[in-house]
Amino acid sequence: MSYSRIGVVTGANKGIGLAIVRQLALQYPESPLNNGRLLIYLAARDQSRGESALQSLYEDIDLKKAKALQTDGAFSEIKYHALDITDTRTIESFAQHLKQAHGEGIDFVINNAAIAMQGFDSNVVKTTLGCNYYSTLEACHAFLPLIKSGGRLVNVGSTAGKLSKYSDEIRNRFLASRTESDVTQLMEDFASAVEAGKEKEMGWPSAAYAVSKAGLIGATRALALAEQEKGGTVLINSCCPGYVKTDMTRGGGVKTPDQGAQTPVMLAIADLKGQTGMFWRSEKHEEW
Ligand code: NDP
Repeated sequence: MSYSRIGVVTGANKGIGLAIVRQLALQYPESPLNNGRLLIYLAARDQSRGESALQSLYEDIDLKKAKALQTDGAFSEIKYHALDITDTRTIESFAQHLKQAHGEGIDFVINNAAIAMQGFDSNVVKTTLGCNYYSTLEACHAFLPLIKSGGRLVNVGSTAGKLSKYSDEIRNRFLASRTESDVTQLMEDFASAVEAGKEKEMGWPSAAYAVSKAGLIGATRALALAEQEKGGTVLINSCCPGYVKTDMTRGGGVKTPDQGAQTPVMLAIADLKGQTGMFWRSEKHEEW
């Protein structure tokens, strides 16, 4: 089977990630980028959760209807693939699979997988930054070289990663960061401040998830700058899905997962008119 477009969604077995896959399949036929069949990789760390999510999509009445109505062959196929972003071996073997199966390159990657832990101490900080910042960036570095010119890299950040809760000094350091290592230095400084029990007096919030997402927004901007500096044309953006009812919010939230999927889906398959390095929410870009 040949495909005109190929994309990856991480952490796609439930919540917003699963809704992103569903909305990609529903919206792609109307996308200005539609030029034939779309293959979406539903990537998940647990095989049985990934495969039952895939099954649920194949049983989805709206998707079945959309597929039946599609006559020009532009409908999507969805495949499960194993990916635990905190396990380098699964990142490498997935990247290897994509290279071998799609030597011409892929079109987009949506890095959606993340965790939000209860409590606050240096272990929570280490695990949260580990997954949401360091592992997400490891996935970016593995997948970005596989993305075709004009393709997309979308990192799902959060409004929690905006810079309202920091001292002026730390906020200015975030805003001045131009390279990934500038941002990583901030993450290291936060982890050290927490280890010393001094994060508040040093101008940080006592909030692992928020800082990990601030780091991801900053690093996404730095990746976009690096891409432009080397003459690359992949559009690299971060976004917030809004406050969405999922397991992560334990029932809180005002949006459904399908509504939360809109901005990441737009960043992957709409005509962005070249916009890159931005933070988006409600389908518009916002100040960080
Ligand atoms: P959920 O907790 O419902 O889903 C998170 C997904 O990420 C699950 O599929 C989970 O897999 C997966 N995941 C976690 N760790 C890993 C890992 N190491 N490797 C691969 N997959 C992993 O969260 P949401 O759907 O709410 O969140 C999706 C994204 O949206 C996240 O980036 C989150 O930070 C962001 N976001 C969510 C908001 C909300 O209101 N819900 C608000 C702002 C941002 P598993 O089932 O195996 O645990």
